[in-house]
Amino acid sequence: VAPLPFDHASGAGMLESLVELARVAVQQAEEAQATLQLRRSAEHDALTGSLNRRALDQLLVRVLHASPGALSVLFIDIDWFKRINDIHGHACGDHCLRSIAATLRAELRPGDALGRYGGEEFLVVLPGQDAAAARVLGERLRRTVEHTPVLWRGELLALTVSIGLGTRERGELDAAALLERADKALYLAKHEGRNCVRTAAVTAC
Ligand code: GH3
Ligand code: MG
Ligand code: MG
Repeated sequence: VAPLPFDHASGAGMLESLVELARVAVQQAEEAQATLQLRRSAEHDALTGSLNRRALDQLLVRVLHASPGALSVLFIDIDWFKRINDIHGHACGDHCLRSIAATLRAELRPGDALGRYGGEEFLVVLPGQDAAAARVLGERLRRTVEHTPVLWRGELLALTVSIGLGTRERGELDAAALLERADKALYLAKHEGRNCVRTAAVTAC
């Protein structure tokens, strides 16, 4: 808000300057908004709205280097998901992915991170959580998915997930090694019948 001078000539000049100022402010706000949207879409998976693999990888490295404390990750893979696509179609599969992402997200705390690591596989990063705490959460996530059927065209679809848990070893900074352990644990969960949580064996040190 600026006081306008009484004489018409300088009043008009002032108005022109104000219009120009407002135009520049709007343009800068739009540019800032576009940058934010760009960053958001670079970090998020378009289907589920959760973090994408690249953002998860970066976040994990950041968290490992930020603090030497406890940290766990959960690899979560939907069981027999190909059948959902085969029987009900790809649109149904997409709907299930969105629905399971929302179900998982609702169980997490603000400091936890959820992302879609690939296809029908999610990763949860749990800063500050040791193996015991992460296992409890993993079991809760598994149970919640099992008890939350997905509604698709009037039909309730029962889905389950298998979960592999990886926990940081003392002083570990290697994100790839941590993910590999969680991936091996997921393989074990699949191998041992699915719809269960398994932990990778801790390597001797
Ligand atoms: P498993 O219990 O061993 O994990 O069996 P699965 O059928 O879940 O695993 P598989 O790797 O054989 O198949 C994964 C399926 O996930 C195949 C692929 O079509 C589907 N999929 C991956 N990404 C998407 C997606 O974005 N949308 C849909 N609808 N399907 C997807
Ligand atoms: Mg898979
Ligand atoms: Mg699967």
